[in-house]
Parts: sequence; C-alpha cells; structure tokens
Amino acid sequence: MVSVPILALRHHSLFFYANLHICPPKEVPDIEFDKNEGIEDKVTTFFYDDKIRIVDSMGRVTKEFTKEVTADLRRNTLCYLYKSKYDKFFDTDKFNTDSDAHYLNFPFEQDGIAREFLADYIIPLEEVKYLDEIIAGIKLLPKAVVEMMRGKAIYFSNARGISRTIITAHCQLITNYLGLMPGVFVERHKDKGQITETFIHEIGHLIDHTVLQPFYTSKGQRSIRFYYQFSEVQKLYTDREKHFTGNPSYKENKYNDKAKGKAGFLTNYSEKNREEDFAEHFVHFIMHKTRFDEKMREEAGQKDFRLLQKFMFMSKLIEKTSVQFTLPPSAASAASSSTHTQ
Ligand SMILES: [Zn+2]
Repeated sequence: MVSVPILALRHHSLFFYANLHICPPKEVPDIEFDKNEGIEDKVTTFFYDDKIRIVDSMGRVTKEFTKEVTADLRRNTLCYLYKSKYDKFFDTDKFNTDSDAHYLNFPFEQDGIAREFLADYIIPLEEVKYLDEIIAGIKLLPKAVVEMMRGKAIYFSNARGISRTIITAHCQLITNYLGLMPGVFVERHKDKGQITETFIHEIGHLIDHTVLQPFYTSKGQRSIRFYYQFSEVQKLYTDREKHFTGNPSYKENKYNDKAKGKAGFLTNYSEKNREEDFAEHFVHFIMHKTRFDEKMREEAGQKDFRLLQKFMFMSKLIEKTSVQFTLPPSAASAASSSTHTQ
C-alpha cells in the first residue's frame, strides 16, 4: 500500500487517547474539548509548556511517568503551531487566517507520525497476533479504497479494546491522539473472526471523515485541510448525507450489533447514527455484497428504495469515481517551489 504507514504499538488506543490533549487551559474561551464516549474522566490534558505525564487508560500515572514534548510531536500538534505570539494560548484568529497556507509553513513531512515520540511504544509487526485476519482484509480492499487510504495510517495493538478510527490527530484543532496521525486503530476482541470485518468497518469511517470531506469539522471548529484531496469523491458528499442518516428510533442491542436491521438497514448497528449507517453498509458492500444485493432487491420490490440507494452510493464511491488526488493549494505551491529550487 502506497503512502499508508503501518505501525504496531505496545499499548491500546485508549492509552494514546488518554494522553492525547496538548492544548490551552480550559478557561480559554471558545475552545471545547472533543472527547470520546465514555472515557471523559480518564483523559489527561497537557498544557503547552508541561512535560507529558503518561497515564494509563484509567488516568493513573504509569511507570513511564514523564516525557518531553518532542520536536516532531510539536509539528503534529496544531495547538502548538497556531499558538499566539503574545501568550501561550491557541490563537483562533491566527488559525483562521493562516491555516489555509498550512502546508507552506509546515511541510507534510513523510507521514505525519510523531516517530520520535512513539519510538518507545513500537513493536515488530510480526508480534501482532491477528495479522492473518488483517492480511485477509487488505486482500479484500478494492483498489479505489487502497488509493483513498493514501496519507492515513494503520495501527495495530495486541492489547484488548474496541477498535476505532482516529480522525483527530494532525487534522483537528483541539484534540490529538498523542503522536498519531489519522488512521484506523485495530485491537484484539473477544470474537475471533470479527477482526477482518472490524478493520474494514473502521476504514469506512476513515473514508467518510477524511476523504469525502476536505477537512474535518467538530463542534464548530474545523481542522486544516487534509493533505490529499479527492475532489471527485467529495462531490458525492451531498448524497452521502442524504442516504446515510441512521434511524432515530434505534434501540441498542448490546449482544448482537450484527442482528438484522429494520427495513432500510442491513444491521441493527447501522441504525445507530449517520456514521455507523455509512460504515456498516461500506463493509457489507465489500464483504457481503450478495446479501446486500438480495436485501436491496427484496425491499425495492416493496417500494422501499433506501437500501438500493445505499448500494448505488457505495458502487459509485468504490467502483465508478475517480480517486485521483490533488494537494491543497498551499501544499501544491510548496511542492512546486521545492522542485524549482533544486
Ligand atoms: Zn463504527
């Protein structure tokens, strides 16, 4: 896979999440913390000039105790880059005026992973216990999906946890999974045989958030533009919004997310919200296309065309749209000025 860094890490994703925040103190106005469900209390915040006190996912300080904020971590942390000249706080105005020229000022070096910081946590890939299931998943990925993965990472851990998609690092204003760039984080689960599907489900989220849109937006804050822009894919965004909405009357089924969904939805979990609606139908289009096709036809026969529309959308996204990428203007001019000077 071209330009897709793959890294095996010693800790689970919550470890990196719990140590993620390098940001201004809470009293700074108009900054809101974007926290993941359920782990709000366990997140530690580091202010600009602090040393990082490494905690585990329960918020307990670990043996690793303190670490310097390394140079490559600073490059990856937008709050540092858009810090005001006059004080140590994040400067929203500066971000708004300067962030479109981001890649001129801060070249996208290699892959955006803070290796200097992560060095202590990297393990050999061969130690990943479910590597076979991942390789099976990679083999299933259509070429267009591999192309869309450009500039995003795949992380593995042997630790147990729920796998997740990282869309915050390097690309969101406020929060930052420490040292990581956008990508998918795969961990071990209890259900053997589920990892391949989870892996592709997470890739669905990643494409939804970082390929279908030019930048990420959360709670009124927007990220810098992603380095790789897929303009033809972005044209599908309006349809994506229209066809993948989740179901407001979704009921959680703790023990069986994969259970059949109501009409218009392939799984119960896909009803949860607009994100899961997208990711579940994405993975079904790649792994269980026949089932998707059958159910879509069955419901269309009863004049319910929602699954048909989702199927057509995925077909357009994965099979019929150009995935040629361009660079944002500031990155393109940085790239061309560097070739001129050589
Ligand atoms: Zn999901």
